[in-house]
Amino acid sequence: MIKSLFSAGGFYPVIICDNCGKRIQDGDSGIVINYFGKKPKTEGALCDLFYTHKGDCHNSILSRIQPEGTEAPKWIDLDMHLAQLNYYLKITQDKISELFEMIKSKKKRVVK
Ligand SMILES: [Zn+2]
Repeated sequence: MIKSLFSAGGFYPVIICDNCGKRIQDGDSGIVINYFGKKPKTEGALCDLFYTHKGDCHNSILSRIQPEGTEAPKWIDLDMHLAQLNYYLKITQDKISELFEMIKSKKKRVVK
């Protein structure tokens, strides 16, 4: 899940693993699971998302959420998911670069 962390007087978006409850520290260590449950996958349908660490957390949450007799929910790497989100929101690479510079300039406030 996406949360906002309050630290040093500011708010910072963080992604929390839906399995273990710990923060996913970088895009390479997380995945996003598209979850329909028992709902049919129909054109235009919206599904829920689960954010988890790769490996044990991924496997653990699948064992809890996957309805018996159904195929495993499709998943994607967290960094690709976030890139797709930017793409479909029409946030350009130039705009992302500009925003990254703005974030870097405020680095002293960003929580590690
Ligand atoms: Zn986890």
